[in-house]
Amino acid sequence: MTTVGVLAIQGDFAEHRKTLERLGVHVREIRMPHQLDDIEGLIIPGGESTTIVQLIDIYEMRERLRERILRDRMPTWGTCAGMIVMAGYLSDHRPQPLRLMDTRVSRNAFGRQVDSFETELEVSGMDGPPYCAVFIRAPVFESVGESVEVLASLDDGRPVAVRQGHMLATSFHPELTDDDRMHRLFVDMVERRA
Ligand code: GLN
Repeated sequence: MTTVGVLAIQGDFAEHRKTLERLGVHVREIRMPHQLDDIEGLIIPGGESTTIVQLIDIYEMRERLRERILRDRMPTWGTCAGMIVMAGYLSDHRPQPLRLMDTRVSRNAFGRQVDSFETELEVSGMDGPPYCAVFIRAPVFESVGESVEVLASLDDGRPVAVRQGHMLATSFHPELTDDDRMHRLFVDMVERRA
């Protein structure tokens, strides 16, 4: 059985856990660096990226995360705050991202008035009807490198779901809907690798 870790130090890790369990995946909540050793994939959830990064550093997880994800190429998916944590660069001076992906990310990119909304997306590699994506004080990709594939964009062209090899990042929150297609896409990445 595939074991996927969910970083469980802040944010909506419980919702990711529920969705993964619905798909028959064994889930481990990750709170300590050594717990990263025997999982086959990792989700970094939505929440507050400044808090998540601060706790990653307090629990001394930054190095081990970078080793497992960059050196071991463990499939990893960041949703919303998680996508900020995984970014290469932020347009904000806070927090200090893990610099895992070749992405430049802007936090709270939709301002206060429209800080939460839903929209339908065409996601490359996903079968069926358009995917209803939930955005909550969401970040966007300002730019992505050549090795980063854009899987979905808003009508204005800004990317909101990208994949760079074994890494996936989305501005929106698939764990807050009943549609589990994004999670299936990620579990498929984990199983292919395992
Ligand atoms: N705005 C939050 C941040 O900067 C992310 C919001 C979310 O994860 N829903 O971390």
